[in-house]
Amino acid sequence: MIQLDKAFETVMHSAFITGSEEIQFTDSLNRILAEDINSDLDMPPFTKSMVDGFACRKEDINHELELIETIPAGSFPTKRIAADKCSKIMTGAPVPTGADYIFMVEDSRVLESGRIKCNTVAPGNNIAKKGEDVREGTVVLRAGKQIRPQDIAVMATVGKTSAAVKNKPRVAVISSGNELVEPDKKPGQAQIRNTNAYQLLAQIQRAGGSGVYYGIVPDDEEKSLSVISQAIGACDMVLITGGVSMGDFDFIPSVLEKAGVKILFSKVAVQPGKPLVFGTHPKALVFGLPGNPVSSFMQFELLVRPLISKMMGFQWQPIDVIFPLKERYTRRSSDRMALIPVVITDDGYVVPVEYHGSAHITALPAADGIIAIPVGKQSIEKGEQVSVRQI
Ligand code: AMP
Ligand code: MG
Repeated sequence: MIQLDKAFETVMHSAFITGSEEIQFTDSLNRILAEDINSDLDMPPFTKSMVDGFACRKEDINHELELIETIPAGSFPTKRIAADKCSKIMTGAPVPTGADYIFMVEDSRVLESGRIKCNTVAPGNNIAKKGEDVREGTVVLRAGKQIRPQDIAVMATVGKTSAAVKNKPRVAVISSGNELVEPDKKPGQAQIRNTNAYQLLAQIQRAGGSGVYYGIVPDDEEKSLSVISQAIGACDMVLITGGVSMGDFDFIPSVLEKAGVKILFSKVAVQPGKPLVFGTHPKALVFGLPGNPVSSFMQFELLVRPLISKMMGFQWQPIDVIFPLKERYTRRSSDRMALIPVVITDDGYVVPVEYHGSAHITALPAADGIIAIPVGKQSIEKGEQVSVRQI
């Protein structure tokens, strides 16, 4: 049995990079950018007004100004601003030559003579200078970031309509167990529905990978070997759930060895989720995840998700928030790291959800996150600050 940090190190060390592809920028949300993107122009591209107002010379600000032109956004001014003249200008329109100040419509009035008078001289000139945000040729988005809507905004602004993004690692999902039936079936005697495959496919999608489902394999060495070998040949990573613990029919580890997988560890000091096999094959990285759905969920979040990210050249960081524990929490043994599903209450405390163990999958939807109690620590005191990893 190895400690989680050692398991993490081993898994991350095995990562390989899965290449990149060119896609339309409109399809790039959540993908990992694989190139630096430069601006093809100055921003703003011309000196422009930041308000709806009147452009004039600052030195004439207390004078009654003659209106010589109206400049809508999208039009270029035709008149230069001389002494005691002004042009009406809209937000985003180019500033006429000669003007170095714009006062807002709200700060002005039209006199009976038709001239314009500024009421309040506000600080600043309401002019955005050409190139003051970005200079042509500078990097506006760096490779390795996960693309968010605001990044797509920048791509649109600099005319980057297609971009290189990292390939989504192809991740195979296989459920093993004679007792399993698919969710659209009513389980018969001694049967249960296949929870894990669908949870994993969703977790893979959330992590940015591309899930490939290989179905349920029975507890049969030959049949398992055939499906696992096929998945290893076709995918970057293979996740098998079930069949990795100490039961008479748990032969996934030996099947993996027959498939040519070099097993690097097979037990991790985490509760839930101790039986966890990880191995490498020249064609794919392979996890044998625990059969119980909560364990499978946790191990994916702890080890598989960071690995998928790393294979895309992305350093994923969980979002942890820190709150005090509402009541003292104790556990019987402390030889493994414990992961406990919790809620964060409206008044800012952490409270464990009702949770009966690793098969209790209906406990997870109620949880806001999980807390970890390290090896050797038996209890957390009331009021102690704990870090909640959001799930
Ligand atoms: P195993 O590791 O195969 O001994 O499985 C441990 C427990 O997890 C058993 O109670 C299994 O029935 C259950 N289990 C295994 N695979 C799944 C699955 N795909 N969905 C839900 N429960 C499962
Ligand atoms: Mg089983």
